[in-house]
Amino acid sequence: MRSLWSQWPKIQEILVGKNLILLFDYDGTLAPIVAHPSQARLPAPTRAALTKLACSPRVALGIVSGRELSQLKRLVRLKNICYVGSHGLEWALPGLGPSLRISPRRSRPLRQITRELRHALRGLPKVWIERKIASVAVHYRGASVHHARSARTQLARIARQYAAQFRLQEGKKGFEFLPAGASTKGTAVQALVARLRRGRFPAVVYFGDDSTDESVFACLSKNDFGIFVGRPRLSRARFYLRSPGEVCKFLQRVCKIIV
Ligand SMILES: [Mg+2]
Repeated sequence: MRSLWSQWPKIQEILVGKNLILLFDYDGTLAPIVAHPSQARLPAPTRAALTKLACSPRVALGIVSGRELSQLKRLVRLKNICYVGSHGLEWALPGLGPSLRISPRRSRPLRQITRELRHALRGLPKVWIERKIASVAVHYRGASVHHARSARTQLARIARQYAAQFRLQEGKKGFEFLPAGASTKGTAVQALVARLRRGRFPAVVYFGDDSTDESVFACLSKNDFGIFVGRPRLSRARFYLRSPGEVCKFLQRVCKIIV
């Protein structure tokens, strides 16, 4: 994985004159990580660059997040942009309205596992449960090492018990129980890119900061750009940028060469 800036002249040459599909994770990629997910805001310069790009007929934009679709749309509030929420379980494409891709029969196990988690994790400070439309997440940002470890032990036990119905996915300072067989961000991006017609938008650029984004980096073709956001580490991405601030700088440069 190389710094994107170290290869910028070459990348710029590839991007000039191309129609682009620009796809982003939200937390830690477009919006800086904050103590509580409800406070994660899109920085004003990033919003301005995305607004500009969303108006260009040469750019298709999409945000692919683990957040619920309604919450993601409320935070981003941009038009002409594809929203994929709940790791690919919920979609809203411009002009098509929201669509939920989960079978309702899974809701009873979801209620059961949520009850069980509440019981198992009670009394662990800074460990909290977020019930989503199709999944249940456990966050431990800010919890002590000891409490985080206790939470992990409980989660591993519950994951074994519900293995037939849910898969446990680990992300930054959190875990999520998703329906077994549900899409990953990778399969969601493949489906989204197919819908956005690769013939018209030949180059795909995907930005992500978390282990859940690795499924996307893994499915990109050699002509696409996977960009890891954060301190460089082992990743399937081809390039890295160090922070959401650098993602913003990239978007501003793309505005100049495309719009
Ligand atoms: Mg993220």
